[in-house]
Amino acid sequence: MHGTTRRAFIGAGIATLVGGSKALGQSGTGRGNKPHVVVVGGGAGGATVARHIAEGGAGSVDVTLVEANKTYQSCFFSNHYIGGFRELRSLSHSYDNLGSKYSVAVIHDQAIDIDKDAKKVELKNSTLRYDILVLAPGIDFIEGSVRGWSLADQDRMPHAYKGGLQAQVLRSQIDAMPQGGVFAIVPPSGIYRCPPGPYERVCIVANRLKTTNPTAKIIIADPKPVFSKMGLFREAWKKHYKGMIEMNSDVDMTKFRVDPKEMTIHLDGEIIKVDACNVIPDQKAGTIAHVAGIVDDNWAPVHAEDMRSKLDENIYVLGDASNQGDMPKSAYAANSQAKVCASAILARLEGKAAAPARYRNTCWSWVAANDSVKIGANYTATPEKIAKVDGFVSRRRESADIRQKTYSESLDWYSDITSDMFAI
Ligand SMILES: Cc1cc2nc3c(=O)[nH]c(=O)nc-3n(C[C@H](O)[C@H](O)[C@H](O)COP(=O)(O)OP(=O)(O)OC[C@H]3O[C@@H](n4cnc5c(N)ncnc54)[C@H](O)[C@@H]3O)c2cc1C
Repeated sequence: MHGTTRRAFIGAGIATLVGGSKALGQSGTGRGNKPHVVVVGGGAGGATVARHIAEGGAGSVDVTLVEANKTYQSCFFSNHYIGGFRELRSLSHSYDNLGSKYSVAVIHDQAIDIDKDAKKVELKNSTLRYDILVLAPGIDFIEGSVRGWSLADQDRMPHAYKGGLQAQVLRSQIDAMPQGGVFAIVPPSGIYRCPPGPYERVCIVANRLKTTNPTAKIIIADPKPVFSKMGLFREAWKKHYKGMIEMNSDVDMTKFRVDPKEMTIHLDGEIIKVDACNVIPDQKAGTIAHVAGIVDDNWAPVHAEDMRSKLDENIYVLGDASNQGDMPKSAYAANSQAKVCASAILARLEGKAAAPARYRNTCWSWVAANDSVKIGANYTATPEKIAKVDGFVSRRRESADIRQKTYSESLDWYSDITSDMFAI
């Protein structure tokens, strides 16, 4: 209960829209003597928690979801779009069912400030009062982490690491490469979303070029000496894309730079002309978490048992923005955290003890046609962090049958998680 009773919540927490538009007032948000949960960010963490609080609360809680975009375009599986074997519309999801099935009030606006004392979220066009706030804003980039690159260069050297147009920009650049051209990728260092994502992307791009542009070359300039599923990726590169990929590990980022105007990268004292360049900068919690003052360094520390902020007891942080312990930053993890969080918030509002937290994650990576690998684990809540209990990872030289099944599992997972998030 974190020292707050249900009565205290109901008394303090008449959900109110301050200065909102007529349409929002008519949506029912902030009406009635109910606790009000406001969720900022409608991605893997935010959409899931909004749905599950509204569903589990069965009308006893007002849930408002604030999401900047009208349609959610998932980053997860965006590599499949870049590879040309998935349409963009299959990655695009509407929030309509959250409203029609579970009465979540969805507001498409941007949260720009949070007043923790007054328990208010300021949006561009209105202000919301909350009893409980859930922040799930995903990531933003650390400016200056790749010398020569800034967000203003994202159309010339795309990151394609957030939803939106970026995946399209990257795919068209790859398709426009001249025969024998060069594709460069700069993976991030530190803690970042989807640890295997950049290396799956290398497989995807290599596969695309293999048929359309077989003499093209891929240069990886990686600040890290090791990376997720490294043995499996290296095996796949050797088996499927021999001679196409040049791996540069442990690159000194104080010397490395890119020049988006000239379309060059400066690597090991050499200036290399590139035709397409995917710069994935270092990352931090989405800006609103920093604005809220609940971030310690780059990420927002949370209690492992319920994802509650360690810096404000009325705020919870989900998904990539959180610093929770051992879980990787993935949609699977955000979804798993959201379900624990939803159940803990409902228990808190009812004055009950929350069920023990159990978390899971699996990250699948496509390495070639009908050939996918995976890594995953179960986790528990300790007083310090979400701690890994046990895990698994695909093995090298697995049979084609196993790899095909792993690929099929990944497709099923995409369908399951998006159904869960968007109440499809
Ligand atoms: C190429 C790639 C491949 C990936 N593959 C996988 C995979 O196979 N499996 C997997 O599990 N994960 C994968 N991921 C990771 C996954 O996409 C993220 O970990 C996941 O989306 C994190 O969920 P989230 O809710 O924290 O953030 P997001 O899903 O990014 O959602 C954040 C939302 O918050 C909104 N928002 C942010 N700030 C505000 C604000 N101030 N006001 C209003 N709205 C705001 C944004 O518009 C966004 O919709 C992949 C990522 C990439 C880039």
